Amino acid sequence: MKKLSVFQTINKIGQEVELYGWAQSIRKHKSVVFIDLRDRTDIIQVVGTTEDFQKINQEDVIYIKGIVKKRPEKLINPNILTGSIELEAKELKILNKTAPLPLQVDTDGYEIDEEVRLKYRYLDIRRPRLYKNLSFRSKFIDTIRQFFFKNDFLEIETPILSETTPEGARDFIVPSRLQPGKFYALPQSPQQYKQLLMVAGIERYFQIARCFRDEDPRADRAYGEFTQLDIEASFVQKEDIMNLIETMIIEVYQKLKIPIKEKPFPVFTYKQALEKFGADKFDLRTDEEKKKNIQAFAWVIDFPFFEKTEEGSWTFTHNPFSAPKPEFMNDLLNKKNIENILTTQYDLVCNGYEVGGGSIRNHQPQALKAVFEIMGLKEEEIKLKFGHMIEALGFGAPPHGGIALGIDRLIASIMNEKNVREVIAMPMTSGGKTAIMNAPSPVDKEKLRELGIKVI
Ligand code: ASP
Repeated sequence: MKKLSVFQTINKIGQEVELYGWAQSIRKHKSVVFIDLRDRTDIIQVVGTTEDFQKINQEDVIYIKGIVKKRPEKLINPNILTGSIELEAKELKILNKTAPLPLQVDTDGYEIDEEVRLKYRYLDIRRPRLYKNLSFRSKFIDTIRQFFFKNDFLEIETPILSETTPEGARDFIVPSRLQPGKFYALPQSPQQYKQLLMVAGIERYFQIARCFRDEDPRADRAYGEFTQLDIEASFVQKEDIMNLIETMIIEVYQKLKIPIKEKPFPVFTYKQALEKFGADKFDLRTDEEKKKNIQAFAWVIDFPFFEKTEEGSWTFTHNPFSAPKPEFMNDLLNKKNIENILTTQYDLVCNGYEVGGGSIRNHQPQALKAVFEIMGLKEEEIKLKFGHMIEALGFGAPPHGGIALGIDRLIASIMNEKNVREVIAMPMTSGGKTAIMNAPSPVDKEKLRELGIKVI
């Protein structure tokens, strides 16, 4: 394994070192060749004088043994961390030659067509900006995990091949070979499983969960799949979950030195938010704070539980599994005053985006059933789709609630990226094509026959 990274050479002046990486740029001055050697940590200028240096091409993979030297004062490059040193090469090995790259990797990349960047994402990630985003992402998730482990939460994986769970989007469906004509759905969220874990007595659950939603593609959103920090806890009230998340964010952001505008986070009712900002997501920052990329969090509460569909029936505004605010429980059970029922839902807003949301759940089966009845589902349909939940709640489900935060959006906001795809290693294109590989793609006739499927 390579022992030393480029960044560590700063402390090795006068010493012989061995470095591995890519030849990011090459400048030839007669017999002297200057190379910017890049690895994941930084770049360093290498000075080579032997014949073999003439053969290096941009982005070749190289090994260099040499002496770290201080640069003469007037040649110091203040723009890079290793700008005061250079490597005087003694030995060079070209470990792999490269074909000419289809895209530049030494710029920030915004100027390149995104389809091209995603087709060659493994090259695109070579650019330091993307490495920085992914490296921060890893650290961010690690710091979040530490918080939840410290607070006695269990990280539990829930199934991916599953049954539909309504979050207001379309499902991705997967055909079953063993039961032709039947389908799995990929989870829009682990909502039902995490509630079932509460019935199971887990009490404190979290997961860095992949969720799948077939929503219409949007320029600034990742199509298809995204990552959420999913949480559920038992014997809690709305304020407990809000406090837990607020404490977590403040602690994690402090550790990672990310400034937050206002603590505790301001709380607005849905009505106040509409009056003040004209929307339930808003940006509380001044122009100056936007320039400094400060993170401004706020809570929005007291949403209406139900809204009318285009067909005139009722549907949930956020989550059918939510409980109403306690003072509306009777209305819910009696299915009256529907338009005025408020839910226990709390949404978290940051810098103009909704970055999370959750609620206290209906832990009594008759309340959950009432939600589906208000939505106009027939007894049979409720039984078929949600019978397992209603049954489970009947076996001593504790009062419980939770939340989910959009990890991609939080990181994009911290890294000052407009598009969440900039902080995801291999996102789909905005048109729903996978990075690098060609999915969705046709399937052999034979495979379709096995599944009992005919494409029309
Ligand atoms: N399941 C919700 C979502 O994915 C979050 C929650 O209520 O915990 O948006």
